[in-house]
Amino acid sequence: MNLETILNNTEFTKEELVYLLSLEGQDMQRLLDRALEVKLRELGNGVYLRGLIEFSNSCKKDCLYCGVRCSNKNIPRYTLTDQEVFDCAELAMEMQLGSLAIQSGERSDRVFADKIEYLVSEISRRYNNKLGITLSCGEQSEDVYRRWFNAGAHRYLLRIESSNTELYYKIHPRNQEHSYDVRINGIETLKKVGYQTGSGVMIGLPFQSLEILADDLLFFKNTDLAMVGMGPFIPHDETPLYEYKNELLSDEMRMNLTLKMISCLRLLMPRINMVAATACQTIDKQGREKAILAGANIMMPNLTPLKYRENYLIYPNKQNVKDRPIDAKNSLHLKMEAINHEIKYNEWGDSKAFFDK
Ligand code: SAH
Repeated sequence: MNLETILNNTEFTKEELVYLLSLEGQDMQRLLDRALEVKLRELGNGVYLRGLIEFSNSCKKDCLYCGVRCSNKNIPRYTLTDQEVFDCAELAMEMQLGSLAIQSGERSDRVFADKIEYLVSEISRRYNNKLGITLSCGEQSEDVYRRWFNAGAHRYLLRIESSNTELYYKIHPRNQEHSYDVRINGIETLKKVGYQTGSGVMIGLPFQSLEILADDLLFFKNTDLAMVGMGPFIPHDETPLYEYKNELLSDEMRMNLTLKMISCLRLLMPRINMVAATACQTIDKQGREKAILAGANIMMPNLTPLKYRENYLIYPNKQNVKDRPIDAKNSLHLKMEAINHEIKYNEWGDSKAFFDK
């Protein structure tokens, strides 16, 4: 295969993607540079922010990789009060972040649905729609997705975690509560309701091959997503997948594979939004900057009140558990400047791909 020829393509076969994902050294850098070029051409050097609110770690799911899975009895469960959520929104306004992302453990009861609906509508009302709202609150019924959409949320992130059914069931319990089909249908329903819909996978999971990752990329493309979030898998010692800790790729290799995935997807889907996941920063101090330089264009500074953060450790060693939001924002600003990127304050930063249709 000829690298330069492939890098100029706009469509890619699975074999070509596997080849790109296997690049190392200078060839890998060539892929990353090409993806940056495509991003700058299509979207410019703007980086958009979503102030992250980790709303609740109450979860009915038992995902085999996640530190807040319901079987983990070693963490106290919390849910933010309405006032705490409004304080986060106020902070986002003061910090001029432009958007919020409300993420949560999964619940599908009525109280939860009503609460999110109320919070979203109240934030939209108070700030006259100045803050974009992304939700990442798991699988819900079509009716609930619709109510939240009508309340003012317009982007939704539901990661498929792996588009390969077999691998999906190696990292989730095989039961109705963790159904691959329900999750796939959820993504389709979100699109139908009208959300800018995002999905994504973890990278460097046990049992994951380059072929599977190439299929994930083609899955994103075929699903015609508006946004994608991908980050390295980080083993958590309170979860069953911790058992495979010593069989994983090294941190450096998982980071590089994440960068290659971001770059390949930027070539495949030039105008989608892609986040520089916080997990990148956990395995590499410069992880998020590297992700931006590999083609990502979104970052999520954490607004969750400090006292709750160590109870939302979906993976260990999260870098921002002690960062005050304002310090995090200032340091992001400088970091982006240093790599010739510009944070776009006070803008929603919607997916360009979504509006091309
Ligand atoms: N309950 C919501 C939000 C999940 S947390 C939902 O299911 O959509 C957001 C993301 O964190 C998950 O989708 C998963 O991809 C990622 N994550 C969870 N555990 C992780 C781990 N150990 N390492 C890296 N990423 C992880």
